[in-house]
Amino acid sequence: MPVISSVLPWHEESLRALVSRRDRMPHALLVSGPAGVGKGLFARSLAQTLLCEAPKGQLACGECPACNWFSQGNHPDFREVIPEADEESPEGDVDSDDARESKAKSLVIKIGQVRAVSDFMTLSTHRAGFRVLILRPAEAMQAAAANALLKTLEEPPPATAIVLVSDQPSRLLPTIRSRCQTVILPAPPIASALAWLRAQSVESPEEVLALAGGAPLLARDLADSEAAAWRRRAIAELARPDGAAALNFAAGIDKGRVEPLLFVLQTWVEDLVRVKSGAHPRRHRGSDGALRAKARRARLDRLLGFDRELTQARRLANHPLNPRLFAEHLLLSYNRATLD
Ligand SMILES: [Zn+2]
Repeated sequence: MPVISSVLPWHEESLRALVSRRDRMPHALLVSGPAGVGKGLFARSLAQTLLCEAPKGQLACGECPACNWFSQGNHPDFREVIPEADEESPEGDVDSDDARESKAKSLVIKIGQVRAVSDFMTLSTHRAGFRVLILRPAEAMQAAAANALLKTLEEPPPATAIVLVSDQPSRLLPTIRSRCQTVILPAPPIASALAWLRAQSVESPEEVLALAGGAPLLARDLADSEAAAWRRRAIAELARPDGAAALNFAAGIDKGRVEPLLFVLQTWVEDLVRVKSGAHPRRHRGSDGALRAKARRARLDRLLGFDRELTQARRLANHPLNPRLFAEHLLLSYNRATLD
């Protein structure tokens, strides 16, 4: 697979700017920006470009041994640390499917994982070039893991790039942030995002891109037909004049639906606040009429209060919990915020 194609078009400029001074690469980078713009892919493109042994026009060639190892996931000078299930978290009385799901969802980067890469960080590199470590999402690091990483950042080994990826950099230790050079990846220009979505055969790209707040990878996920069908049901529920049938609808919410439900609620409430304030909806543009009808009976202060509640709820969404009760609680709160 030619590697060039793995660089998202809206990232190419930032990538070139970084690697044009590969002899002065910062030891630590913090790649941040909204969710769904491709930060993880950017970090990987950067890693491959630094490891490539015959870069073409500054970017990875996709053909040399280093590029081949990289695309097969076994370049000896590359490591990527992603969250593992936190076995110490309490598990609810869930059936085995749910248990598997919650294992996949209760995700943290543990100190053991950071320690496990310490040999990698201190031994000499295999290919006499760069060594690259990616941690993502960096805010998933537990406190002990963050402190262990901090020691490495304080005395970085030579020819090493540590790339932290985060859409919530404010949740990182300030001492970690201050040791990283920040690379901010904003949502791309709309035309560029739409062109990319069309190339991915996404239907109604304008609609999903608006819903995703301009983040193309998120838009692509939202376009998935099963996800879209469920979302339509959820929106129909929120649009009901007499309020969502909270208990009924929540009964169908399992672990896998917690995140989609939060997303629909947050974007829907964002639009209700906009409509209530006299603006046009930005996310659910096709639901203008339903939003207006709901906004008429809603109170702005209650909507804003519910929005804060959703922000809190999002912090819990990755932890084991009872999805049905979680959904029930949020939908009842939604009804209180939108019915006079
Ligand atoms: Zn190469």
